[in-house]
Amino acid sequence: MIVTNAFNQNLTDESKQHWLSYWKHFTDEPYSYCAEQNCTQQQQHGVLVTQPKLSPHTLFVVPLCEGHSNSFVSQLEIDDSARIVPTELSL
Ligand SMILES: [Zn+2]
Repeated sequence: MIVTNAFNQNLTDESKQHWLSYWKHFTDEPYSYCAEQNCTQQQQHGVLVTQPKLSPHTLFVVPLCEGHSNSFVSQLEIDDSARIVPTELSL
């Protein structure tokens, strides 16, 4: 599925780690890899995204490796089996 970056540029590394902890809190899966479709790196950051087609006003947390997190500017194709967690926040 395609997700769109919400405001990754404005998040500090500390805050991305906070969002990754949030994601882990709400998922009890052992899955610990970056959500990008073909990536096998470990998760390091939680990134805030929207799903424009399904729910454009809800923010979700997606776990990504540092490389994908830092290079994620607009859109990213994530694995369909990756879990994404809605936040309490909305745009
Ligand atoms: Zn990655």
